[in-house]
Amino acid sequence: MSGRALARIDLAAVRDNAALLARAAGRAELMAVVKADGYGHGAAPVARAALAGGARRLAVATVAEAEELRGAGLGGPLLVMGPLAGGEWARAAAARAEVAVWTPEGLAAAAAGGARRPVHLKLDTGMGRLGARPEDVPALADAAAGAAGAGTVEVVGLMSHFATADEVAGENAGFMGEQLLRFRAAAAGLRPRFPGARAHIANSAATLRDPAAALDVVRCGIALYGCDPFGADPAAHGLRPAMSLVSYVASVKTIRSRESVGYGRRWRAARGTRVAVVPVGYADGYARALGGRAEVLVGGRRVPVIGAVSMDQVTVDLGPEGAEGVGDEVVLIGAQGEARVTAEEVAAWRGTINYEVTCAVGPRVPRAHSG
Ligand SMILES: *Cc1c(COP(=O)(O)O)cnc(C)c1O
Repeated sequence: MSGRALARIDLAAVRDNAALLARAAGRAELMAVVKADGYGHGAAPVARAALAGGARRLAVATVAEAEELRGAGLGGPLLVMGPLAGGEWARAAAARAEVAVWTPEGLAAAAAGGARRPVHLKLDTGMGRLGARPEDVPALADAAAGAAGAGTVEVVGLMSHFATADEVAGENAGFMGEQLLRFRAAAAGLRPRFPGARAHIANSAATLRDPAAALDVVRCGIALYGCDPFGADPAAHGLRPAMSLVSYVASVKTIRSRESVGYGRRWRAARGTRVAVVPVGYADGYARALGGRAEVLVGGRRVPVIGAVSMDQVTVDLGPEGAEGVGDEVVLIGAQGEARVTAEEVAAWRGTINYEVTCAVGPRVPRAHSG
């Protein structure tokens, strides 16, 4: 370790996960979703690894993310999925990015980009967020057909998004199937007017859950990074986590019984013990909510995070017999020997989802890519 904390990114894992998802997608193409800096893993390196594993297209949320990938030398089909405003339409055109549109106004803004701008018509089949509602689809389709006839746009995709693909049980278990039915019907209606458009609705969970949802393209993010879209153990699907978050023991001291450690005296020693300070904190994305809940790996074993997580440090209880010393590696996410802590476990400790855990790893933590 040459610094406080490091996110090690295993690009071979990303490549293998992409290959697994491409297989699961059957004849559909894999679109690798690398928004939010590749869910915190580094967008350009993971994009390259995903393409090497069999992804055929890339997707991001923002124009700036598309520009970054183009700047890093990534060519090929690249979709900006999020909403665009003002000058972003022209920037998307300059970046040769495909865009998603769901209103005639958005379509006109895309068309202003000039010749045959590639657009995906986005339909709301139940997410209730972006996308044209069923009653608004005819007007969108008419505007798209007009612009396509005028040669200003080319409709290359018909897309929608699942709200509950990760919920295999409970009251929402059937909703993914309902959305799929609605989308298939809508796409079948639009197909004759836009024969070159690829239909896509599946995210990672849907891709792993139902081959029938793959259609022409699957858009996978979380599983690409080796995280389980269902929040359980990624190994159950053959996925390999790509990110490890590591730090080191910066200081050790013996704390006597009834002494406290950290802000607010939230932890008090029930017995004399050795407490290590690890230089990673909530400013690095290791959430404050983890204090008193999480465990980390040191010396190949699990030890508890005690007291409050500070901005720059956490404290862990090595135990009275804990032999670890200054400089020893501490794994906050990842494996050490036989022991491991997954992003899913960290998510459960802090009351969130694995997506937020990897995205939260901040810019103060360097990424080291290998493989
Ligand atoms: C982020 C995103 C995805 C990827 O979802 P995962 O659950 O990470 O696979 C797919 N489609 C859209 C529209 C998204 O915003």
